Amino acid sequence: MDEKKVLIADQINEKGIDELREVAEVTVQTDITNEELITVIGDFDAIVVRSRTKVTREVIEAAGQLKIIARAGVGVDNVDVVAATERGVMVINAPESTSVTVAEHTMGIILSLARKISIADKSVKEGRWEKSKFMGMELNGKTLGIIGMGRIGSQVVIRSKAFGMDIIVHDPYITAEVASKLGVRVVDRNTLLKNADVITIHVPLTPETKHSIAKPEFDLMKENAFIVNCARGGIINEDDLYQALSEGNISGAGLDVFEEEPPKGSLLLELDNLVATPHIGASTKEAQRDAAIIVAKEIKTVFEGGSPKNVINMPVLDPETFQIMKPYFQLMEKLGKFLIQTAKGNINEIDVTYCGELAEFPKLDILTRMILQEILNPILTEPVNLVNALAVAENRGIVVVEGKRCDVKGYDSLVRVEMRSEDNEISIEGISVPEPRIIVVNGYKVDVETEGTMLISTYKDIPGIIGAIGTKLGEHGINIAKMQVGRKEMGGEAVMVLKVDQDVPESVVEEIKKLEDVNDTVAVNL
Ligand code: NAD
Repeated sequence: MDEKKVLIADQINEKGIDELREVAEVTVQTDITNEELITVIGDFDAIVVRSRTKVTREVIEAAGQLKIIARAGVGVDNVDVVAATERGVMVINAPESTSVTVAEHTMGIILSLARKISIADKSVKEGRWEKSKFMGMELNGKTLGIIGMGRIGSQVVIRSKAFGMDIIVHDPYITAEVASKLGVRVVDRNTLLKNADVITIHVPLTPETKHSIAKPEFDLMKENAFIVNCARGGIINEDDLYQALSEGNISGAGLDVFEEEPPKGSLLLELDNLVATPHIGASTKEAQRDAAIIVAKEIKTVFEGGSPKNVINMPVLDPETFQIMKPYFQLMEKLGKFLIQTAKGNINEIDVTYCGELAEFPKLDILTRMILQEILNPILTEPVNLVNALAVAENRGIVVVEGKRCDVKGYDSLVRVEMRSEDNEISIEGISVPEPRIIVVNGYKVDVETEGTMLISTYKDIPGIIGAIGTKLGEHGINIAKMQVGRKEMGGEAVMVLKVDQDVPESVVEEIKKLEDVNDTVAVNL
């Protein structure tokens, strides 16, 4: 067998290079330009980069035998993942390499705030000796509120326990089992904001988390509270933070990340009760060493015929399977989007049943992976895809059950998905031919296109409720395009699915929920 060839195009830790030398001929060329890369890449089976080298479509198209693009770190912004996927080239990274490092930085910032270390340091160096000015706060016995308990949040839990802190966590997507393993109390967001002495954020930046800490949240916090963000800029509204800090509504803040980096001209930087670092949460030699070792081991696994765990894209399906699966890809995507928007609390179990002719198809697990990808992607930092979806669900303690059933009335094939979360259970059924449609919601027959915005309400089947919901939407200028109602028995619970022409703001959903005899309402955007 020919010896495999690996190109190291950016500086990585020697330990990773040594690891690779055991299985491949390694070329280290860390000053290579993109033009040179295009001319030499054809000789290599794998390339390892950090953030300097841009692995563009042009590079990938010139790479005849390339199987792996490895990013010794987390973000893959410098790799054209779509082009790699189209060519069947795996893109791997090392998402776990920085967790401990970022958690330690978080603890450093918390300590700096509690003991005023950075301003005391500045004062001593400026020739002052202001002992009484820097009265601190012990962490022992204080409540730490962690928002987002993924890889980094979990490491913060372990470290803050050693400081004798009482830990509360808000993460709507972790299971009770994961929480109890770490010995933390899971609470709702407002309880955390009201009770924590120190709040630390470890969530991805998503439409849901963007500016999720703003004036209303600062208003709930204790006057002595500190808040720390070592996650992503933009999660905290910086204008509102400035106001809260300068008016003394909270005691202090620590930021490693800013909405605009560097934060030129930000008033925050003038405040003594702000500790700031220049996005160095992940910058340690150990994290870089671990990233190099992790990707080297992954490349070795692939060369030895095994299956790597951090693949962030999907190798192309063979054309025959792809054609068979194609009509169902869109349906699974839409069902997944529907389910994640209707879930309440931590997801515990997802059951997918393939019914009718579809039950005989090969590789149904690809469809299951596709729905998991849609459910998990909006809530996680790491990209979830067809390759890693099942592993990510398992790591998060979500039970995934795949089943087949042959009996199905009225359709050739359909997919049924039941999702159990801590606070609700949803089941939906969908068909893909002639176009994706949802035909059953929670056991009620409906027939809805999987496009645009819809409002789903459950209510008591008595006169006047449908009208009241319609009137409420009308008051807010929201036009109803289509309406579907379903019920199991007269006078019992009924479901109404409204297709609407405008987005339905959360405040309007809340108003509808408060209407008499309306049990629940949710807006879903497909
Ligand atoms: P992760 O995906 O392992 O964990 C994120 C957690 O947030 C998950 O448990 C998820 O369930 C939870 N979550 C998602 N939406 C939520 C919401 N609305 N409310 C509460 N919880 C929610 O990610 P991670 O590796 O722990 O990274 C956490 C953050 O740290 C990310 O923003 C990442 O980009 C950032 N990060 C920063 C640095 C740095 O240099 N400062 C380095 C690495 C990572």
